Amino acid sequence: RDMIPKNHPRRESLLLREKLVEALENNILVPQGLIAHGRGECFDYLLGEKTQYFADDAEKVAAAMLLIAKNPVISVNGNMAALVPESIVKLSEVTNSKIEVNLFYRDEKRIDAISDVLIKNGAKNVLTEGNAVIPELFSERRRVNKEGIFSADVVLLAMEDGDRTEALIKMNKKVIAIDLNPLSRTSLTATITIIDNVIRAIPNIINYAMVLKKENPDELNYIISQYNNKKIISESMKFLSDRLAQLSKDL
Ligand code: ATP
Ligand code: MG
Repeated sequence: RDMIPKNHPRRESLLLREKLVEALENNILVPQGLIAHGRGECFDYLLGEKTQYFADDAEKVAAAMLLIAKNPVISVNGNMAALVPESIVKLSEVTNSKIEVNLFYRDEKRIDAISDVLIKNGAKNVLTEGNAVIPELFSERRRVNKEGIFSADVVLLAMEDGDRTEALIKMNKKVIAIDLNPLSRTSLTATITIIDNVIRAIPNIINYAMVLKKENPDELNYIISQYNNKKIISESMKFLSDRLAQLSKDL
């Protein structure tokens, strides 16, 4: 970490990589998590490593949806725990959401390690027991918590696999997905798709939630009713293509 020069143009990005390597050493992450991060980095590079307007819009509506939900749940995996443990806890407090550790590669030791990180960051309760199953998914990937994801009306997830997102949608849940890749199956099937890095998205959702908490449910429902997810995804794709076209002219 000390070896990254202070003036390195990709310093932020290199520091994040260090965090993930550390998480790998602490059994919070599996090697596949590093690969997923690399795919995300590529899209973030193309997005200009900033929260663009389509992400900001989706983040505002996500805050409204979490605030009016009956049983909102934040689904946490290794990448999220490595990058934004504090923000996850803060978001759960501001929106009254439960926190559940839910892994693609389910492993009890890793679940405990992730739960410990969240508790160290102030979480009072972390759901870890896989005592219910998501229909249509096979193997250990389908195990979820009965009081958590299984009975949730709104699930916020990030860096999730497309199959599982689709299965949650089939269970009639609303899914808020944070995914830098607008082309992923998760992005294309979610109810609200946030095309942004979790390190920027979650703090921005927290800020919106603190403001929107003062609004009445009618106003929150109105904000949600005006939202069009297809339009948001399409704007993100157009942004990427326009940005590359502009950059190619500037050469
Ligand atoms: P899908 O299964 O939905 O089609 P995928 O197979 O392309 O997606 P996965 O490895 O299943 O991808 O999930 C990882 C996703 O998380 C990738 O789309 C990647 O762009 C995204 N991602 C990685 N790091 C971040 C991050 N820091 N913030 C937001 N998204 C990220
Ligand atoms: Mg996948």
